[in-house]
Amino acid sequence: MAASRGARPHVLIVDDNEDNRDVLQMRFEAAGYVALCASDGEEALTLVAASAPDVILLDVMMPRLDGFEVARRIKNDSTLPFIPIIMQTALDSVERKIEGLRAGADDYVTKPVNFEELEARVRSMLRIKALQDEVQRRESELERANAALLQLAVSDALTGLDNRRRVDERLREMFEHSVRLREPLALAMFDLDHFKNVNDRFGHRCGDAMLREIGLVLQSSMREIDQVGRYGGEEFLVLLPGAVSEAAVTFADRARLRVAAHRFTFEGHELHATVSCGVAAWPHQQLVNRDALLQAADDALYVAKRLGRNRVVRFASAEFNANFRDFHDQHGSGAAAGGTTAVG
Ligand code: GH3
Ligand code: MG
Ligand code: MG
Repeated sequence: MAASRGARPHVLIVDDNEDNRDVLQMRFEAAGYVALCASDGEEALTLVAASAPDVILLDVMMPRLDGFEVARRIKNDSTLPFIPIIMQTALDSVERKIEGLRAGADDYVTKPVNFEELEARVRSMLRIKALQDEVQRRESELERANAALLQLAVSDALTGLDNRRRVDERLREMFEHSVRLREPLALAMFDLDHFKNVNDRFGHRCGDAMLREIGLVLQSSMREIDQVGRYGGEEFLVLLPGAVSEAAVTFADRARLRVAAHRFTFEGHELHATVSCGVAAWPHQQLVNRDALLQAADDALYVAKRLGRNRVVRFASAEFNANFRDFHDQHGSGAAAGGTTAVG
């Protein structure tokens, strides 16, 4: 409560009667408070909006905006902190008190006011406010901590990109969306070429720096609606909603060329890197579900590696079929779920 502005609590006295205001202001100031005054409801709301007081003494009977309405507006304003309101009413009727409490008053005193009693009630309200403020402070601390945790759970610590779990989640969402609206969806799976050499020759820290930069290069090559994530150690998956396979290949090749043209510097060394990429797009007769789409991008990446790296291969392209079939023939089993040997 008052801690944030020093030892003196701020009390706002709202009364249309000047004599009442002056007496209370004098006595509260003498008792160590900062006492502000408002002569009607509008002025009170303006003062509260400008700087929230720690407690409000609110007269009920005022022209235009009465005390009930002022209390209602303050208590319904979610941008304000908890501000205790003590109603002052000349009419000592039960109905009035109930209406005041319903409007949001936290306590009430009847006129003529006994200052000692009023000040004791103010102090008790300030104690409640201090507790309330503490609860609020802890709540927002918790909210911040939760948001940070959530961020940690979905992002990759090294690159700051989406982690694999998040990419999988986005892919699931995008795939469902695509199926529902019959919109295309393409995947581009990138893998760094001979990355082990970088670690071996320049150390892991250099490899880490390179991974971070490649993440940025990929990101800068995408459209706003595309999503990139770190899918494995040196693998990145880009999700391209709405993209047919030609568009995805165009993107992937642009990204590949940008990586190849990028100059990495690490502790005085100048390094270059290349990536291989497999592209797969839905809908495709052989791709019945999300897992098959993902596997197809992976298979295409595998073919890109076999064909010499630093290239993009599209799933079910002639190049893919020729070389993936070759792999099948040699190994006798398929990495892709059935049927990828069919002509695309
Ligand atoms: P290829 O062209 O066939 O992909 O060759 P490669 O050397 O890139 O592939 P391989 O799978 O043999 O090696 C991957 C390397 O990536 C090995 C591993 O140490 C490195 N790597 C994976 N994650 C990280 C990481 O977070 N930081 C660093 N510095 N290296 C990583
Ligand atoms: Mg690699
Ligand atoms: Mg790899």
